[in-house]
Amino acid sequence: MSVAQAIRAAAESLSATSDTARLDAEVLMAHALGCSRTDVLLRHMSDGAPDGFDRLIARRAAHEPVAHITGHQEFWGLPFRVTPATLIPRGDSETIVEAALEVCAAPKRVLDCGTGTGALLLSVLHERAGAQGVGIDASPEALAVAQGNAEALGLGARARMVLADWTQAGWADGLGRFDLILANPPYVEADAALDPSVRDYEPAGALFAGAEGLDDYRVLIPQLPELLHPGGVAVIEIGYKQAEAVGQIAAQAGFAVKLRLDLANRPRALVLSQESRGIS
Ligand code: GLN
Repeated sequence: MSVAQAIRAAAESLSATSDTARLDAEVLMAHALGCSRTDVLLRHMSDGAPDGFDRLIARRAAHEPVAHITGHQEFWGLPFRVTPATLIPRGDSETIVEAALEVCAAPKRVLDCGTGTGALLLSVLHERAGAQGVGIDASPEALAVAQGNAEALGLGARARMVLADWTQAGWADGLGRFDLILANPPYVEADAALDPSVRDYEPAGALFAGAEGLDDYRVLIPQLPELLHPGGVAVIEIGYKQAEAVGQIAAQAGFAVKLRLDLANRPRALVLSQESRGIS
């Protein structure tokens, strides 16, 4: 069977499992061949399909995420190593990077709360050569992945990964203050109906935040003013139905709040600044 035929058959068999069946099949074929997806499409379509491909497709058909099978996910055009200990970076989260670069043109010190793979922090550091960053996470396994990603991207000298849990008193002692704080905290409701590829494979600690998905915002946001330099900003990812609830938590903590939409025009981030109060 040719590569083209194998991809077509795989896309068909994955269509019950995945909304992106054809893309999944192409990415997994690239992984099996050890080349880029572009190379698969431009150079290898009439070659013989490689032996291991069917096994990769069987894993995806059992709902394992593509990023866990390949061990990588692209985010902000950069390659990130991903493991079951880290949330897989979502395209929607690029909204946070975009907003951060816009509202804080030249940050010197950047903090990423719940850094996971390091995707948010390392994307900003990649764009801002004058910035130093701290990524914190409560998971030592995730921090090791973030540290490896920092080094692989040539950002190891400007990124420090620190084990810390914002639900524990004293977690931020010694971190200092920041010009820019990023966060994609857990925000999924405890009883949310998630796709099995998320529910069964991604770390619960990075997803769930109590009955309303607001527990981590309630703990983290009131602590942010102490961590920001005067005039500093925080850019926080939210679930698309949470703008009002999280906006209120932020307003109570003394922040002015601006909403940012993702590519699908859904609420995706709040920009918190200390200029004036209220939601706009
Ligand atoms: N966006 C993720 C999802 O819907 C959730 C990420 C998070 O809780 N921070 O699966």
